[in-house]
Amino acid sequence: MFRYFPGYPEGAAFAEKPCYFCGACPALDGELLDFDEAFNDPPPVCLPDFLAGKARMDIPSSIQRTLARNVEARHPDWNEQARETYVQERTEELAHTPPVSWIQPNQWPVCGGDYAQFIGELTRARIEAHAGSVEGGKIFLQTILRQERPEWPGDSWLERYWEYLGDFMRIYQFRCPDGSEVNVLQMM
Ligand SMILES: [Zn+2]
Repeated sequence: MFRYFPGYPEGAAFAEKPCYFCGACPALDGELLDFDEAFNDPPPVCLPDFLAGKARMDIPSSIQRTLARNVEARHPDWNEQARETYVQERTEELAHTPPVSWIQPNQWPVCGGDYAQFIGELTRARIEAHAGSVEGGKIFLQTILRQERPEWPGDSWLERYWEYLGDFMRIYQFRCPDGSEVNVLQMM
């Protein structure tokens, strides 16, 4: 259904309250969305109203510029107009994709001349299932942390990071068009 979020609704950010516009449940978390009207407290919006354009995912201009640069490097033969149109179309499509439950601003990654596909959040349960045991899960997390945050105090803090995962610390997993994976780590 969604190019950039093929697993929807698993991993989407839902609100606890019903849709502000029609009362339907479940509704997407408005905190992560942009509205035409100004709200002090951005309200929940159901998927049909979201798709009808009552709200959209906020995509920081820095992310759009990253895609523009990525597309330019990848398609030097395209003229400027073609590149701009492509970036606009893909950005519009991402804006109409349900939001991920970011704990910091949207950091949707770009790779292979496109926005990446959201696979899901790397929770303790998912890592544990993948690794086959809690200890294996911690080693898997350690590998990710060494890649993503080489400056952090690593091994002596591993127990703490494991406890933080899914809470103060979130790891969002994305897939690039070439099949490689990108992790986005956020800390509250
Ligand atoms: Zn609604």
